[in-house]
Amino acid sequence: MDAAAGIEIVRGDITTQAVDAIVNAANSSLLGGGGVDGAIHRAAGPGLLAECRQLHGCPTGEAVLTKGYRLKAKCVIHTVGPVWSGGKQGEPGLLASCYANSLALAVRHNCSSIAFPAISCGVYGYPFAAAAATSLRAVHEFLSAHDEPRIVRWVMLGATPYDAWTAEIAKFRSNG
Ligand code: ADP
Repeated sequence: MDAAAGIEIVRGDITTQAVDAIVNAANSSLLGGGGVDGAIHRAAGPGLLAECRQLHGCPTGEAVLTKGYRLKAKCVIHTVGPVWSGGKQGEPGLLASCYANSLALAVRHNCSSIAFPAISCGVYGYPFAAAAATSLRAVHEFLSAHDEPRIVRWVMLGATPYDAWTAEIAKFRSNG
């Protein structure tokens, strides 16, 4: 299939998405934080933190799955993005791993739709254009080799990540 066919970029709040799995840009403790992590925990309710406590953390670049509790999404995939430190500390590889590991986990749990935030692009300081290029390449590579998930959606709170991802996806589409 056309690997870019199921990719969508929208503006909105990821916590309201009616998809099988939403992805949380978590920190390695998995014990909650600000940004999208705080928003997901507030919307999911206390059951999410209780389950996260049992997981004892997650290394950068990896992903773990919990239930969605009060969210419309049945699962939350928590992945830990790299902190941007100039781009020469393995950040692109770690960011790509976040996406690949999240998608593999989604497939393993029969999730055919998944929504991502702009992982690492908030407090962790990853530049939007660089994150968009790496993220789209990682997702495209995964979808080239797998039939699922059918829908991979980025849900952007702000205009800047939305514009960065939209510009990058246009390049993928024009390259076929
Ligand atoms: P990180 O620590 O990985 O940088 P942040 O949560 O600080 O994660 O930010 C990641 C991105 O998520 C930022 O672009 C931020 O604007 C965005 N974000 C924050 N809240 C939401 C939300 N409710 N829905 C979608 N994106 C959000």
